Amino acid sequence: MLRVLVLSLMCLLLSAVVSEAKTAVTTQPFGKLPDGTAIEIFTLKSEKVEARVMTYGGILVSLKAPDRNAKVADVVLGYDSVDGYYANSNNPGTAYFGALIGRYANRIGGAGFTLEGKKYSLPANNGANTLHGGPHGFSNQVWKAKTIPNGVELTYVSKDGEEGFPGNLTATVRYTLVGTDLKIDYSATTDKDTVVNLTNHSYFNLAGQEQATILQHQLTLNASRFTPVDAGLIPTGELKSVSGTPFDFRKATAIGERISADDEQIRLGKGYDHNWVLDSKSGKLAEAALLYDPSSGRQLRVLTDQPAIQFYSGNFLDGSVKGKGGATYALHAALCLETQHYPDSPNHPDFPTTHLKPGGHYHTVTVFSFSSH
Ligand code: BGC
Repeated sequence: MLRVLVLSLMCLLLSAVVSEAKTAVTTQPFGKLPDGTAIEIFTLKSEKVEARVMTYGGILVSLKAPDRNAKVADVVLGYDSVDGYYANSNNPGTAYFGALIGRYANRIGGAGFTLEGKKYSLPANNGANTLHGGPHGFSNQVWKAKTIPNGVELTYVSKDGEEGFPGNLTATVRYTLVGTDLKIDYSATTDKDTVVNLTNHSYFNLAGQEQATILQHQLTLNASRFTPVDAGLIPTGELKSVSGTPFDFRKATAIGERISADDEQIRLGKGYDHNWVLDSKSGKLAEAALLYDPSSGRQLRVLTDQPAIQFYSGNFLDGSVKGKGGATYALHAALCLETQHYPDSPNHPDFPTTHLKPGGHYHTVTVFSFSSH
């Protein structure tokens, strides 16, 4: 009798622990686009972290994590309402705050590429080049959404010829939160040969989104090489060793330490705006970056199975954006760590391929893992 009682008590306790560990997912309306389209926001809440994702652009609107004293702050830049995001994403100088980027993250040189002997022209939205999938990329589309265990699943069907890309591409992105890990799982299929490179464009400031700069943040990148760029920020094709350059982040280094170094690549990027080639075997989830803010003690580990990461030090932020809670986002107010394939891969046959064939399945995972010390 006693054993039965003890056993059932243990079961009760266990189920309480299990249900506590679960992430609560709730949905709310989040305003409307100018054409009347209703936007929804999904709140994912675990014991320690809260992430909010909306259907417009699949944007990560806020990400709240505790510091070393358990004080919670929102660590990503953005706006209080969909109107701000909409206005910014329809502006030629858009920042892509928190957005899902596709069909092709970062630049395609000369706004075009050849695939299987066919030439494709894309709209140029960054000088002569195409940036982040073109002016109407995935970041300003409304995604279909549904709740899944611990998160939200977003789907967007990009039509054959949209922004110049071939093939109907169905992209599915799942954001899930378990404990302190926010996982982004991307997949896509096509009905024609195409290229695909998806990422998330969150701007992090681990001290809090309203704080001045990330220059004191310490960054580690597990990468021995990077892809130098030309004046249009298109890779030259070289894979250059980071050794002896301001691009060597193999040991934790303050971002501000070498951001103004007398270096041609730093000048071209106006700071850091480059693609690092990860040392890990691509295809296996491994740590790509570690970001630490000494002031708050917050730490972000970025894990990915992608071959590269774009570290962008917010060089185009200039204080003109009024963000969440009236925050002003000045130069280097935040940084992006965009897991990806190399920019302009469709024009570099020797780079890892971004070619997706009908019947093929594009699949990649990135995890943003928080802690503090
Ligand atoms: C690019 C930057 C660009 C920024 C847009 C980054 O991924 O590398 O050059 O200015 O996105 O906000």
